[in-house]
Amino acid sequence: MTIGIHRPTRLVIDRQALYDNIATEKARLKPNTDLFMVVKANGYGHGILQVAQTAVEAGATGFCVAILDEALQLRHAGFNQPILVLGITAPKYAALMAEYHVSATVGTLDWLQAAKRVLTASDEKQPLSVHLGLDTGMGRIGFQQPADLKVAVDTLAQSEQISFDGIFTHFSTADAADTDYFHQQVDRWQAFMAVLDKKPRYVHVSNSATSLWHDACNGNMIRFGVAAYGLNPSGTELKEPFTLKPAMSLTSELVFVKQLKAGRSVSYGATYTAKQDEWVGTLPIGYADGYERRLQGFHVLVDGQICEIIGRICMDQLMIRLPHEFAEGTTVTLVGKDHGAEITLQDVADYCGTIHYEIACGFTERIQRVYK
Ligand code: PLP
Repeated sequence: MTIGIHRPTRLVIDRQALYDNIATEKARLKPNTDLFMVVKANGYGHGILQVAQTAVEAGATGFCVAILDEALQLRHAGFNQPILVLGITAPKYAALMAEYHVSATVGTLDWLQAAKRVLTASDEKQPLSVHLGLDTGMGRIGFQQPADLKVAVDTLAQSEQISFDGIFTHFSTADAADTDYFHQQVDRWQAFMAVLDKKPRYVHVSNSATSLWHDACNGNMIRFGVAAYGLNPSGTELKEPFTLKPAMSLTSELVFVKQLKAGRSVSYGATYTAKQDEWVGTLPIGYADGYERRLQGFHVLVDGQICEIIGRICMDQLMIRLPHEFAEGTTVTLVGKDHGAEITLQDVADYCGTIHYEIACGFTERIQRVYK
């Protein structure tokens, strides 16, 4: 996608905030615990390569991605740390994964057997690294029964082409105050672990929420995602054990300012009509940038003052009501701090009826990312 470097709309990424969130969490972990930074979905919208670099500087020792292409992007950029693809990759890519030292998540014996056939038919000499995923209650991917895990582990023990490097599960309610379901998942995890004679190199159960709020399962690696970006995984339900510093802000500029006469309307559908003469500013950002159409009626900050988004949000532009005339070129904050006022990604998500994860990774590539 084209990046808008000639328009004044920017996602400003605060690398120091990222660094601090990761380093603080790393310091809280038990000794010899690895922190794998979750950089899928373009680093939750923050920029995969820049986030990866900062994460390594802050103490991350590996990465998690969702799809193989993200892993290859990291490899091509020169990152040589371990990378785990959290989603299911087709076994036909087993040799490619082995070549690039990318670990696959595996949830069935069939997958292992298919990958073995692919590796046998290829010239690849490197073994394929796998982490076995266990479905303890997320209901998404992974082995469902300890007996099936046992068969897979026994199969791996006889394979030279596939290396059993990790085992993990994912909790679905670690970010909730009610811990009943979480503990059911812990119990199922223990039942799975009981069939293992020997643990692999990486044992991991913790996403951000699990790492922040639970001392679960004696893992030796965490998969640290949203909290590294400075966002509370629970939204507002649970209090963060340390201050998370938001890494992303979104700013633009007034590119057109006019006085709208009483009775004149704004944007498609003419849903907003000025009751009196008022000042209106136009911003070069719209729903094609991931600034959702549902945000009509929400607000931005101009000079620390709240200004309502009036009329429908267009594909590339939106209009705001100003308290008085402002010069064109005045900075507008859509996410972040401005003169003591603040709009958080959580505020945006609340208005849209969703979670901040979706807002952050929904900002499209067209918005230029600026790193400070
Ligand atoms: N582990 C798995 C398996 C995931 O799917 C995700 C994110 O979706 C994470 C870890 C990171 O989660 P969070 O961003 O909540 O830390």
